[in-house]
Amino acid sequence: MSDIHANLEALKAALEQTAFDAVWVLGDLVGYGADPHAVVDKVQELQPQFLIRGNHDKVCSGLESTKDFSLLARQSAQWTLRTLNPETRAYLQSLPLGPLSFEDYLLCHGSPVDEDEYIMSPYQIPALLEAQNAQVCFFGHTHVPIIYRSDGAQVVECPVGESLVLQLKEGRRYFLNPGSVGQPRDGDRRGCTALLDTQRKVVEFIKFDYAIDEAARKIREAGLPRPLAERLYVGR
Ligand code: ZN
Repeated sequence: MSDIHANLEALKAALEQTAFDAVWVLGDLVGYGADPHAVVDKVQELQPQFLIRGNHDKVCSGLESTKDFSLLARQSAQWTLRTLNPETRAYLQSLPLGPLSFEDYLLCHGSPVDEDEYIMSPYQIPALLEAQNAQVCFFGHTHVPIIYRSDGAQVVECPVGESLVLQLKEGRRYFLNPGSVGQPRDGDRRGCTALLDTQRKVVEFIKFDYAIDEAARKIREAGLPRPLAERLYVGR
């Protein structure tokens, strides 16, 4: 999972979708949403096998300034920084910078070479394939579930749309974004995660509904910018 963004309702719903043995988190636990403490507690409870930081975890815990953020991102980061208790702030500061490598898999927030890079086009993929040798690179940051598949000669972009099941094939390499748990931006208000079966080499994308009214109400009541509540309903 990736990009939970302090949305507790979405995180709880994501965890109810399916059985799993381990959790991999690609960063951005906080920022935008109104529940940074509860989300961080829940993630810690899950004892993720792998967990890396995202750019919002870095900025919202004060490791980097908000100057490169858009207005809404900056306002929510400042709110989060003011709100965080010292333990949660220290925990976020301690999260490792990606990428992390495991067997044939690589985990990063933005891209394998830059946690702040947005992968939004197949034209970015060839250079990123050359920069590392994992068969599958899981990334987040754009909040859009997507698959880029390479057979060596060309890169094909496969939008996820409705739920999708992907069989990983030998000789092919993949860049794969499981979408955002707590602030989707693919025009679909539902949250999204991906389930990886490491034995069958199958990835299943899972879209899920959650209590948006509750998450939006908390954002408004916290005094966070109202567009952060409204965007949850449109998935943008
Ligand atoms: Zn994010």
